[in-house]
Amino acid sequence: MTSDRPVRVRFAPSPTGNLHVGSARTAIFNWLYARHHRGTFLLRIEDTDQERNRPEFTRSILDGLRWLGMDWDEGPEAGGPVGPYFQSQRMNTYAEAADLLQRRGRAYPCFCSAERLEAMREQQSQAGLQTRYDGCCRNLDPEEAARRMASGEPYLVRLRLAVEPGEMISWTDACKGEISINSDLLDDLVLVKSDGFPTYNFAVVVDDFHMRISDVIRGEDHISNTPKQILIYRALGLELPRFGHIPMILGTDRSKMSKRHGATSVIEYQNQGYLPEAFLNFLALLGWSSPDDRELFSREELVSLFDLDRVSSHGAIFDMAKLKWMNQQYIKALSGESLLPLCRPFLDPVPGFPGEYSAEELAEMAGLFRERLEVLSDITQKVPYFFADPAGYDEKGLKNCLKTPDLEGLLQELIASLEALPEFSHEAIESVVRRMAEDRRLGAGKIIHPTRLGVSGRTDGPGLFELMKILGKEACLRRLRAFLAARPWTAGAPA
Ligand code: GLU
Repeated sequence: MTSDRPVRVRFAPSPTGNLHVGSARTAIFNWLYARHHRGTFLLRIEDTDQERNRPEFTRSILDGLRWLGMDWDEGPEAGGPVGPYFQSQRMNTYAEAADLLQRRGRAYPCFCSAERLEAMREQQSQAGLQTRYDGCCRNLDPEEAARRMASGEPYLVRLRLAVEPGEMISWTDACKGEISINSDLLDDLVLVKSDGFPTYNFAVVVDDFHMRISDVIRGEDHISNTPKQILIYRALGLELPRFGHIPMILGTDRSKMSKRHGATSVIEYQNQGYLPEAFLNFLALLGWSSPDDRELFSREELVSLFDLDRVSSHGAIFDMAKLKWMNQQYIKALSGESLLPLCRPFLDPVPGFPGEYSAEELAEMAGLFRERLEVLSDITQKVPYFFADPAGYDEKGLKNCLKTPDLEGLLQELIASLEALPEFSHEAIESVVRRMAEDRRLGAGKIIHPTRLGVSGRTDGPGLFELMKILGKEACLRRLRAFLAARPWTAGAPA
C-alpha cells in the first residue's frame, strides 16, 4: 500500500436497475479487500440521477448484496459516522464544496445555455475537432457573474482547469500500474448542473474525501473519469486516494458482457438456483486469481488470499460452463438435509409435491440428486415421478426392453419377490434383482433398465434401488403391475 491510512473502501451503486453481475463483482473485490486488510467496507447509494433512480432498485441491490453475503459496516440501514450514505441527502456538502472552489477561484459559474453548448459541440465535431468547452464564461467579470446569479439566471459551475498544455495526469493504479492521460483531452468540466445537482465526478470526489476512502476500487470503464477526479482533488487541495481499476467482464467471444451471453442481473442467477457461495467464488475469479491457480475457495479462503496485486489487467471472461461446473461442485458437497430447503422453491411447483413423504424421505430424495444438479432448478424436471405414477414411458427405453428375454415372466417374478420382502430396503431390493439376474444368467442391467422404466417412465435418474426404496413398496408394485398389464414395449415391436 502506498499510504498507511486505514483501509476504507466503498461500493457505490446507482439505483437504476437490479444488481448487475459487473457491479456485484466490484462489490466483492471491495469487500474482500476490506476484510483482508481488516478495514471498513461501506455502501453509498449514488442516487442523484432524478430520472432514472428508483427506491425499489436500492432495495433489490441491498438484497443482492445480502444474498452474496456482502455485509457492509457503514451505509444504508447500518448507519455510520460519515453519513448520510445516500447522495441525494448530501446536497449541502456538495454545495459547500462548490462554494469553496468558487471563492478560491478554482471554479466559476457558466451561463452558457444548453443550446449554445450544443451548437458549439456541433461546430467542433464538424471541423473534426475534439469537443470541449470553449471557455466562454471562464473570465467573466466576477461582479457581473454575481449580478447574473442573483437575478436568477440559470448557470452551471465549472472547474477552472489549471494544467500546462500537454501536461500528463498520472497515477499508479493498484491493478494496472502507471496510467497517464494527456490533460489536453480535458476541459473545464461541469461540477454542478443547472438544476443544482452535482455531476457524478464532483459528488464522488467530495464523498470519497468526506468518507475518508483510502482506495477507490472500481471497473475500468471509470478510467477516463479518474484524471477529472484527480484535478478536482487538486483544486480542493486534497490528498488522493489510491485508485484500482478492475478489468471489464467479457463474454466468451471477448466482447463486453451483455444479455446475449447470459443473464446480467444477480437476481436471475438466484432465481435459477445458483448457490450464493458458488456465485461468489465464480465472480471472485473474474479478474483475480490465487498464486496456486486453484478454482474452489471458501469465503474465508478468499478473504485470506485476496489482494489487488493479483488482479489481472486484461478482461475477465464470464464462462457460463465454468459457473455451472462450479455450482455443481458446491451442490455436491451438500447433505440431503441441507439441500432440501434450498431446493424447496423448485419442488413446490412439481405436481403432487410433497405427496405422503416424510421430511426424512424428502431429504433422502434430494440427496439422490446431489450429483445430478448443475443448478437447483434442474430438480423440477427430475423428480415428477416421485409424486405421480408415470403417464408414459420413454421410447428408447421401451426399445431396450426388447433386449431382455422373457420380460413378462421376469416382471411377474420380480413383483412376487418384491411383494414377499419383509423390509423394503435398498439392500433387500438389490439382492432380489441380483439373484434373479444370476438365476436367469442375465447381466443385471437387463433387469434394472426395464424396472426403472416401469417405476419411473424414464431411463435416467439416481440409483434404482435407492429410488425404489423411497418410492415405497406399494407404489413400486402398483407401477410394475401397470407396466406389465400394458406391455407397452410390445407396441411397434416386430411381430
Ligand atoms: N455510481 C458509480 C457506478 O455505479 C460509481 C462509480 C465509482 O465507483 O466511482 O458506476
